[in-house]
Amino acid sequence: MSQRQTTFTGQYIAGQWRPGQAGTVLQDVNPYNQSLLTEIAEASQADLDAAYASAAKVQREWAQALPSERAAVLYRAVEIMQARHAEIVDWLITESGSTRLKAEMEWDAVRGATLAAATMPAHVHGRILPVDVPGKESRVYRLPLGVVGVISPWNWPMQLSNRSIAPALAVGNGVVVKPAEDTPVTGGLLLASIYEEAGLPPGLLNVVVGEVSEIGDAFTLHPIPKFISFTGSTRVGRRIGELAMQGSTLKRVGLELGGNAPFVVLDDADLERAVHAAIVARFLHHGQICMSANRIIVDAKLYERFVEAFVERARGLKVGDPNDPETVIGPLINAKQLKAAVDRLVAASRQGHRQVLGGDANGQVLPPQVFVDVANDSALAQAEQFAPIAPLIRAANEEDALRMANQTEFGLSSAVFTGDEARGVRFAQRIEAGMTHVNDISPNDDPNNMFGGEKNSGIGRFNSDWIIAELTTDHWVTVQHMPRQYPF
Ligand code: NAD
Repeated sequence: MSQRQTTFTGQYIAGQWRPGQAGTVLQDVNPYNQSLLTEIAEASQADLDAAYASAAKVQREWAQALPSERAAVLYRAVEIMQARHAEIVDWLITESGSTRLKAEMEWDAVRGATLAAATMPAHVHGRILPVDVPGKESRVYRLPLGVVGVISPWNWPMQLSNRSIAPALAVGNGVVVKPAEDTPVTGGLLLASIYEEAGLPPGLLNVVVGEVSEIGDAFTLHPIPKFISFTGSTRVGRRIGELAMQGSTLKRVGLELGGNAPFVVLDDADLERAVHAAIVARFLHHGQICMSANRIIVDAKLYERFVEAFVERARGLKVGDPNDPETVIGPLINAKQLKAAVDRLVAASRQGHRQVLGGDANGQVLPPQVFVDVANDSALAQAEQFAPIAPLIRAANEEDALRMANQTEFGLSSAVFTGDEARGVRFAQRIEAGMTHVNDISPNDDPNNMFGGEKNSGIGRFNSDWIIAELTTDHWVTVQHMPRQYPF
């Protein structure tokens, strides 16, 4: 077993921890106190080439490994995640600005997704199909794609990288990961060190940390990867989709993009339960979740009471040091994200939106901001906030709530609260989204259940059979057992 890697200053390419060759250095800083966590010598296009070449070379043997051999590496990775729990949580707090409670949730999600992936080598199966030709046998083999490129964002960096890495490895692929600039360790290097310790063949998983201007487009245009698994903004996702159709090889993409989840409270909802869930759905990870309740749409019959209870709870949330177990609102990831949030707040007040809770940022920590009687078609409601900003919207009735819920370019997650579960399911079925939760928060991810969006929230699905299908391909093979009658 190799030595455990815990300091991160470069790349992980072809099984080597080494500096990148671009000549630039990434400063990885703690978003709460700006302390320097590490400096990383960034990757050049030559480094990217080396990473893809290594993944392709090692993948050929890995695809031939027995399912139990692949599963064993993943089970060992789960054990290592447990053993290195404190270290992982600490990195998530210090690098990604996660509160301790969110870091624990993310650790748990990463562990759960890896455990689920460990079962996947045994679940990749082909088919034998009836065929309309005498004496012919038809088989469809299901094969790994080859090499998968993973690009991830900074908000749940470890989970959003690993939800592609673990299943990709499980079904026999090689992987190259490009984590976000703000989270090179939790989005890539830390995972590489865990899989290395778990005994993954060196060179199968590679992590490149570099500037988008140097390796961004090249990552997707490269001829080796067969699939680019991208999680991030809709703007960049569109570009990845375009690039995947250019270059010397066409490739598939999985695009998990932005969201603007409606959180609907119908007139028969349990008020206390709905308010509590709305607070969690809006403010978990300070609103930096693609599934966050971005618009809280409440039936007029409950609206006034809902607003009062929501504001009271939001005011009571602990704001500040993410390391404090009681803290709910910690730092936004970087100064750019904070400025974008503050700009939206300034624009909202200029546009006459009524703000009932607010306060200035302290460092990168922005306290909860609540707006009431927001119009659903306003810029404030239609923007993906990615900050602790809550627009509350009044709906005249159920139909009005549904109309507004669907009035968005996005369609990732959603939630509806009602005292009548059957009514909730009927409502859910009419929401244009990939995911809807009745009487629960909109952020929900379970390794055995489907994850994915509609509309401008993306293309593709995660978890269980859905991700196996994304990360494998079919090969139709037939055998003509006896001479066939041809038409001429
Ligand atoms: P982003 O799109 O700015 O960046 C995502 C990743 O893409 C980063 O690693 C970035 O370095 C990389 N990137 C940027 N330009 C690139 C290019 N030309 N080629 C290759 N890579 C490039 O997104 P972000 O700000 O890091 O994350 C926030 C966004 O992600 C939000 O919109 C959020 O909704 C979305 N998100 C979606 C999901 C989901 O599952 N649907 C999950 C989490 C976050």
